[in-house]
Amino acid sequence: MSPTQTEKDDAKSNGHSNEDVNGEHNEWKFRAPYKVHDNDPNFKALYEGSCHCGKVQYQLSREKPLSAKFCHCSTCQVLHGAPFQWAAIFHKEDINFTSGHSDLGWYESSEKTTRHKLPCKVSCAYCRSPIMDEGRKMILLFPSLIKFKGHEEKEKFDATCHMFYGSRLVDVKDGLPKWTGLDGKSELIEDSPVEMVRKRKREIEEEEAGEEGKGEGEEKKREKT
Ligand SMILES: [Zn+2]
Ligand SMILES: [Zn+2]
Repeated sequence: MSPTQTEKDDAKSNGHSNEDVNGEHNEWKFRAPYKVHDNDPNFKALYEGSCHCGKVQYQLSREKPLSAKFCHCSTCQVLHGAPFQWAAIFHKEDINFTSGHSDLGWYESSEKTTRHKLPCKVSCAYCRSPIMDEGRKMILLFPSLIKFKGHEEKEKFDATCHMFYGSRLVDVKDGLPKWTGLDGKSELIEDSPVEMVRKRKREIEEEEAGEEGKGEGEEKKREKT
C-alpha cells in the first residue's frame, strides 16, 4: 500500500527528508507502529523512551502494557546479550516514533534476514540498542529504554511471569509463575505459585481426558462399522 501525497506531505512537515519520504520501500513509515502521530489530538504521550545514542525516540500513549513478561529463550539470550529479556506488550497504535525513522534496523531470526519481515527485532541502526520485537499485530517493547518518572510508573510495567524458564541461564527466585516454554501452553516449574501449579495440572489432566475421550469415541465408532 503506497502512501498518499497528503501522508507524504505530513511526513515532510514532521521532519522527514525528501529522500526518506519518496525513497523506495518506505511504505512502512506510514503505517503503525512507525506512523507519526504528531498532529493527532487523540495521541496522549504518557511515556518517553530512547535508544542509548538518542537517535531513536518514541512516546507511548497507553498507561499500562497489555502484558509484561520475562523471556529466557535462547534467541532472546543471544540477541540481547543478556540472561533474559524483559518485554511489555502494546498495540502498534500505542507508539509514536518522534525521531529516528531512518535509524532503525531489522532482524528476522528464522530467515536471518535484515529485511523488514514480520515478526522481527527492531533496533537502533547506529548504537544497536534493541528497541522492540515487532509482531504481526502487536509490539513487544523493551521497557529498559523508557524514562520512568518514579517507581509507581515502573511498577505498571512489572513482568507477571517468566517464559522459556526451562532454558534459563540464571535462577530468578521472585515467586512469579515460571513456564518451561510459552506461557499458558507449557508446564509451570520451580517456584511458581502453588495454587497456579495445581490449576495448570488440572487443566492438563482435563485436556488429556478430553483427548482420550475422543479416542475412545472413535474406537467405538470403528467397532460399530
Ligand atoms: Zn541509538
Ligand atoms: Zn525469547
